Formats: sequence, structure tokens, C-alpha cells
Amino acid sequence: MKVLISGASVAGPVLAYWLNRYGVETTVVERTPALRHGLGGHAVDLFGHASDVVQKMGLWDEVTAARTMIDELTIERAGGRPVHVDLGRLYAGISDQHVEILRGELTRILSAATTPTEYLFGDSITALTDDGAGVDVTFERNAPRRFDLVIGADGMHSNVRRLAFGPEESVRRHLGGYLAVYSMPDVFALGSSMLIHQSVGRLVGLYSVRQTGQARAMFMVRTEAELEYDYRDKDQQKALLATEFRDYGWRVPQLLEQLEAAGDFYFDAIAQITLDTWQRGRIGLVGDAGYCPAPAVGGGTSLAVATAYILAGELATHGPAGLRTYEAEVRQMVDRSRKIGPKVMGSIIPRGPATLRLLPWAASVVPKLPTPIQRFIWSQNAVGKALGSTALPDYSALLSPRSPANPGR
Ligand SMILES: Cc1cc2nc3c(=O)[nH]c(=O)nc-3n(C[C@H](O)[C@H](O)[C@H](O)COP(=O)(O)OP(=O)(O)OC[C@H]3O[C@@H](n4cnc5c(N)ncnc54)[C@H](O)[C@@H]3O)c2cc1C
Repeated sequence: MKVLISGASVAGPVLAYWLNRYGVETTVVERTPALRHGLGGHAVDLFGHASDVVQKMGLWDEVTAARTMIDELTIERAGGRPVHVDLGRLYAGISDQHVEILRGELTRILSAATTPTEYLFGDSITALTDDGAGVDVTFERNAPRRFDLVIGADGMHSNVRRLAFGPEESVRRHLGGYLAVYSMPDVFALGSSMLIHQSVGRLVGLYSVRQTGQARAMFMVRTEAELEYDYRDKDQQKALLATEFRDYGWRVPQLLEQLEAAGDFYFDAIAQITLDTWQRGRIGLVGDAGYCPAPAVGGGTSLAVATAYILAGELATHGPAGLRTYEAEVRQMVDRSRKIGPKVMGSIIPRGPATLRLLPWAASVVPKLPTPIQRFIWSQNAVGKALGSTALPDYSALLSPRSPANPGR
């Protein structure tokens, strides 16, 4: 079987890795000219099943060595005392297996393990024709090719989804907010700490990146209506952000001073993908492309890792029909993950004065509880429940003895 995967970030490399291990031929097409690895971008989390998958890949030590190592969080709000949280203690209470890592670092580690996958960088699919026996694919740059299956692992604004399932607008649910992130000099000498400042309808965060000595500024704002802007025009988006936070106070003026120079500026809606089927003939979707639970508030990275592992196992077990069994296997995880974002939005970007007190209160109380109680609270929490709602299948019997891919991993 020859599988084409669109997207080389999280879901794409995990899928390629496991297909390689099952003896399936994989090609990955990635729009960017090289891997989007590195130390820019944002921090993401691995929890539960996703950590198990990374362990099965033999990459856990590498991933934990590359973790952010942010160990202290201070939450501030106007009129309230700052709350200091020992994150090491908080995460240890949640799970032995949580790790926070820059998304680019995770991509670097995952992709390096995908030999002998073929990568087509700086390219994108332009058309997909599924004739029932295979898929004819045309690209912007490479010559047309035929594959047995095509999988979209190309994120929230998936190209494969648009080509095979229809326009994004009909399957996007706005959760009522926007998110911006950019790198800047660590003007506040944050060390290994993260600062958050909340007000009604807005949040500003700041954390350091130990590997670069830089800091990352993060802004969230609640807006019930969708904003009108050009998603390609970064200057326009920067201007929108500056206008929204001009009068915020706190450390924001120093953050906005760095905005113009920010080369890795990210701005997007906090939105979900609500598509309810992730396979159409020989074309499938995985990770954010199929069911983005919303950036930064939905646990999307762990969902992408766990579901890519399941997709590979189902395809290796059933061939193309594995797209249908995969869909059935991950449905509960996806459905539950979709409930996380709207809930987290409520506490992270406070709706009113009462919710403004919620996060500092929870962050200060939970780490002081005995570990078994913290773990119980976590198990009742939406993220823990979503990921744990389906047992992680064991596909080890499928591992190809002749698999050329990292046999020891
Ligand atoms: C600011 C921010 C903060 C976040 N914080 C967290 C967090 O704290 N915890 C967490 O778990 N998750 C977080 N997330 C979400 C997390 O990043 C995603 O859920 C995760 O990266 C999904 O992985 P993916 O591989 O499915 O998609 P993506 O990581 O979006 O990767 C898609 C890949 O496809 C490529 N691509 C796009 N279009 C094409 C095309 N036409 N052709 C070929 N390739 C294409 C892209 O370049 C990219 O490499 C955050 C997201 C953002 C934006």
C-alpha cells in the first residue's frame, strides 16, 4: 500500500512512523520549504495516550529532554493578589506522563524517526481524483502521482479537507475568541517562569524559551462575532491586536513594542472543526485537519498523536477499509475533545468578574491537595476523560519484522 500524507507537523509524522513500522510505503507532502521544526511557535502538551504512543515510539527520553522546563506560573489580575503556582507539582499531581514542549521541537523529534518516508517539501496538493481503486494526485510543483490512499494531516485549515470534503466555513465553529502568539526578546528576564494576566474578556501570557533565551508573548481576546480580516495580511492582524490591547496596561506596552519586529507572528480564531466524518472513499483526515478541538484550549496535540497512531494501526489491519474502522475507533475521543474548548474558554478568557477569580483559585488550591485527589480531579476533567474514553489499541502484532524503519524504536 502507498499512502500520501499531507502535512508534516504532529499527526503526519506519527502516522508516517507507524505506517513505516507496519511495512507501508509513505510519502509526505509539506507546504513549507522545510520542516516547521525549531524553537519558534508555541508550546504544546502531551498527556495520557499521546505520551503512551511517544513511549511506544521510543522517543520519550528525547521528548522530555527537549521539554520547556517552565516550572513556575504567576497569575495576575487587576484588583487581586498574584497567585504563584509550582507547575512541577501541579503536573506531577495530574500525571507522571505530562510533558510540555515547543511544537517545532516535537515535529523535529517525530520526523527524524520517520525514515524511510519520502518528503516533498514546498509543495501542496491541487487535485484529488478517487476512482475507487486508487487516488490520482496533482501537485503545485511535483509531477502527478497515484496513491492507494491520501490522508490530510494538514491542520485546522486543511487543504485535503477543502478538496475532498468541501469548504471550511461549513464545518468551522467559532468559539468566541482570537489568539495571537509571537517571539520577542526576554525583556522581563523570566527565567523558567510563565506570567499570565487576566481581565474580563482578555488574557495576556508571557513565557521564556530556555533554548533561545527569548520569550513568547500570547494574547487571547473574547469576541462573540467573527472578525473580518485577511488571513494572509500579518500587518493587518498586528494592527488589530495592537488596537485591541492598546489600553490594557500591565506589561502590555512593552510587549506591543516588540510586535512590529515579530517575524513568527501567529493570529487565528479560536475555532473547532465540526466535520462528523473523516473518511471519504480512499481519502481520510487525521488530527486538526479532521477534528481540531480549537487551538490552545482543546488538547489538540495529544488528540493528533493518539488518533494518528490508531489510524496507522487500522490501515495496517484492514487496508483502505481501515479508514472506516479508524473513524469508529476515535469517534468517542473526538466527541469528548470537542467539549473541552468551550469549557476552557470560559475560565481562561473570563466572561465576567466571577470567572475572573476561577483560574487563580483553582491553580492555587489544586496543587495543595494530596496527589490521589489531584489525579481524581484530573480524571474527571474534560481533557483526561476525552483521551481516556477509548482504550489505546495494541497493534504490536502488526509490526513488520522487515520494517526498515528504526527497528529498535
Ligand atoms: C498558538 C497555539 C497554541 C497551542 N497550544 C496548545 C497547547 O497548549 N496544547 C495542545 O495540546 N495543543 C495546542 N495547540 C494546538 C496544536 O498545535 C495542534 O492541535 C497540533 O499541532 C495539531 O497537529 P496536526 O499535525 O494535526 O496539525 P498542525 O500542527 O496544524 O500541522 C499541519 C501541517 O500541515 C502543513 N500544511 C498546511 N497546509 C498544507 C498544504 N496545503 N499542503 C501541505 N502541507 C500543509 C502545515 O505547514 C503543518 O506542518 C496550540 C495551537 C496554537 C496555534
